[in-house]
Amino acid sequence: MLNVSHVTKKYGKVTACSDLSFHLDPGSVTVLLGPNGAGKSTIMKSIIGFLRYDGEITVGGYPNKTADARRLLGYIPEMPSLYPNLTVSEHMEFIARAYRLNDYKVRMEELFRRFELTDKQKKFGDELSKGMQQKLNICLGLLPEPKVLLLDEPMIGLDPHAIKELKLLFEEMRTEGRTMLVSTHIIDSVDMLWDRTIIMDRGSILANVARDELDKDGRTLEQLFFDMTEGADRTDETSGEESTSWEEQAK
Ligand code: ADP
Repeated sequence: MLNVSHVTKKYGKVTACSDLSFHLDPGSVTVLLGPNGAGKSTIMKSIIGFLRYDGEITVGGYPNKTADARRLLGYIPEMPSLYPNLTVSEHMEFIARAYRLNDYKVRMEELFRRFELTDKQKKFGDELSKGMQQKLNICLGLLPEPKVLLLDEPMIGLDPHAIKELKLLFEEMRTEGRTMLVSTHIIDSVDMLWDRTIIMDRGSILANVARDELDKDGRTLEQLFFDMTEGADRTDETSGEESTSWEEQAK
């Protein structure tokens, strides 16, 4: 559903992403893990079409910057950029118009109910607390029901109720066959819900592994993350076995 092929992005002399390739299936949640500066936001912004880069990205078979791909793609940025002079419901109306959504009101009300924004609908963007802004940011990304949804650090600033709702939504969207790519550096926030993880550091992919492959390997996601990013020996010291095939594949 989403194909990233040999993508390199440089900001001047800084290589933020170096020859990245991966593929995401429909009906899956992939977590993109990595320390600060790993290149997570850069690959997300490249996929969504905000940046120029070398390489190729397709969504549902369409090049990512085409109108066909844009119809399939959604993005929830890390920093909500709300309009101070639009109300909560006017923000949703703005997105509905941009995506030419008919009959969006039922879905809007459902999202407001789930994220506890129903009584905040008439508040202006600059009257909302940080947490409320992030909830609205999430509702705006979910309103068009994208087939492929990218979420950059979505849990930051959310209260426990909103985190629970978002996790439920991930499960529902997976069942509906949607593809989600969730970037985070907080492993606990995604530990229960991922199908695949891609671990990045310094612009490269260090591991690209499905949950069942990691379960067979016997490591937790956190152990894998620290083994990959803190330079531990990648061979198994007790058995002397070579690195697993998915680690090799990611190199
Ligand atoms: P992450 O999201 O994993 O924290 P980023 O993609 O934001 O990482 O950053 C990757 C690298 O690119 C870092 O070294 C960062 O300093 C650099 N970088 C990101 N955005 C810019 C920019 N607009 N201009 C210059 N360098 C940037």
